[in-house]
Amino acid sequence: MTEPMAPSTKSSVEQDQFLTILSREEALARFEAALFPRHLAAEELDLAAALGLVTATDIVAAVDVPPFDRSNVDGFAVRSADIATAGEAVSVRLTLNDEVIACGTAPHLPVTRGTATPIATGGPVPRGADAVVMVEHTHPAGDSAIEIRRAASPGQFVSYAGSDIARGEILLRAGTLIGSREIGMLAASGVARVSVVRKPRVAIISTGDELVQPGQPLRPAAIFDTNGAIVTAAVSENGGEASFLGAFPDDAVKLEAVMRQALATSDMLILSGGTSKGEGDVSHRIVSKLGEPGIIAHGVALKPGKPLCLAVCDGKPVVILPGFPTSAMFTFHDMIVPVLRRLAGLPPRNDARVMAKVPVRIASELGRTEFVMVSLVEGDAGLIAYPTGKGSGAITSFAQADGFLKIEALAEQMPAGTDAEVTLFTPHVRVPDLVIVGSHCTGLDLVTAPLARAGLSVRSISVGSLGGLSAARRGECDLAPIHLLDEKTDTYNVPFLVDGLELVPGYRRMQGIVFRAGDIRFEGLGAEDAVRAALNDPSCLMVNRNQGAGTRILIDRLLGEARPDGYWNQPRSHNAVAAAVAQNRADWGMTIAPVARAAGLGFIPFADEHYDFALVTARKQRPAVRAFLDALHSAEVRNALEQAGFRPA
Ligand code: AMP
Ligand code: MG
Repeated sequence: MTEPMAPSTKSSVEQDQFLTILSREEALARFEAALFPRHLAAEELDLAAALGLVTATDIVAAVDVPPFDRSNVDGFAVRSADIATAGEAVSVRLTLNDEVIACGTAPHLPVTRGTATPIATGGPVPRGADAVVMVEHTHPAGDSAIEIRRAASPGQFVSYAGSDIARGEILLRAGTLIGSREIGMLAASGVARVSVVRKPRVAIISTGDELVQPGQPLRPAAIFDTNGAIVTAAVSENGGEASFLGAFPDDAVKLEAVMRQALATSDMLILSGGTSKGEGDVSHRIVSKLGEPGIIAHGVALKPGKPLCLAVCDGKPVVILPGFPTSAMFTFHDMIVPVLRRLAGLPPRNDARVMAKVPVRIASELGRTEFVMVSLVEGDAGLIAYPTGKGSGAITSFAQADGFLKIEALAEQMPAGTDAEVTLFTPHVRVPDLVIVGSHCTGLDLVTAPLARAGLSVRSISVGSLGGLSAARRGECDLAPIHLLDEKTDTYNVPFLVDGLELVPGYRRMQGIVFRAGDIRFEGLGAEDAVRAALNDPSCLMVNRNQGAGTRILIDRLLGEARPDGYWNQPRSHNAVAAAVAQNRADWGMTIAPVARAAGLGFIPFADEHYDFALVTARKQRPAVRAFLDALHSAEVRNALEQAGFRPA
């Protein structure tokens, strides 16, 4: 039986909030001090199964390699003294012994003075011989003799026994990572079984009432369990034997049972979610009763990742990662990977790093080590690192970023123009062929599809229209997709161009009112009438857009002075508007036709928006830019755009 949780009153919960937050260095040091030294038992495996593991002991060679003096060429085994006088002018004639030493054949006859024995590459050099002459340097002289016209030094073309590996030599030191080369050395020495550090068995548990496994239907208000998959993969990548146990609701009794069982059969336990100190967050309370010394750090000055909880329970590491997937990943890589690799006997990970200029100022919280994901593009004067973070919940920033930079705890910001060190997620920088920075649109993927097929890599960074224009001005991208309405002239995009940029017409996107199909308040009306109808119905709830969005300008035109219910709900994307209406959290809003269509919503067209490309003229002749322009104008792309509800220019 487990003890019931102490009921937490409001004030006790508040007192519980991260009273002691450790610096990342202090937390890691305490965690490692509580854990190490710790050695996992060695196990003996077949050579093939040892790939990627680490040797547990020194491995000593039991035989010489090669095991005998071996010929390196096809030719004749000779006594070098016999042919010391041979030269272009004077040939020496040797009588052939009556055997041929093929590979794998032991010689029977000695090479006596004045004789030679035919030998193949890899054949054992016979008694009496001390060199091998290549067949190319000899001439047949009847059936049983050869003529030689160059001298040979003793040892020529002979590999002596043990010259590669000597018996008694240490083949591999304990702690060596076994790759294909190491496996080759061991095989050459006849080693079939090898003693390796057992992979740490790591149990992984996701926690949260809202979690659904990928492949299962998504209930309302539920989300797919991301951490389970990503932590499991990252554990395997870092030398652990991962075992994912599933996602469990925030139920203290059930969770404790699963955690105890997992810990009993594993070397390490990793949970995610429920690490904040709120009432629903139960895992850390369970961890504190799983063994000694218990929680080492709960609250680390990291961003993202503050609620990280590190514990050691009876010698085994127990970790609760924050719930947000990006927070979970950063804390995992920064704080858990070093410990996991040390348990697995692996050397610290050697991430590739590059220097890159940060084009924009990045604000940072004083007192927390902050990780900022970046996309790398090639600027005129070297690499440029664009921050790509979409907020702590965004998993796509991880997949789209090339790496991250670190802002030290004591810095309040990283000024624009800083040369920063970027830790790469991949071994090498992948500089894209085409860089698009600006406003994002789902239609863009249709335009770049032919480029991807042609093997051109495209990096698309969404920073909004104005951000894209600045990047284009600074020469940091090839194209900036923009949709900016100049209210004075009532024209799109052209008035915003500056020297060095030219406009490539893209396509139109119909903006209009979305509502749930069948809502009789809107069916059959024009946009102005629909909004009038909505304003006349006090129970009708709208969803707005953020200030600065092109769509917002259109909404404001329709609303005039009216501020209906829902006006302050101002999401930042077309899709968020459609989701709010589809899920009945609002009754109407404005979005683009393709998004409305994809969400299965009713749509009333209102205004055509011009989505065009500001092209950096200096980059016009680049092959990838030309390929982009060709694609944009191709019948294939125009058709695809039309199919999706866009209207190509
Ligand atoms: P928590 O730490 O449990 O308060 O979770 C913080 C946020 O991360 C919430 O929005 C959770 O829904 C989300 N979250 C927690 N666990 C997961 C998971 N395994 N996969 C995806 N999101 C998660
Ligand atoms: Mg939770």
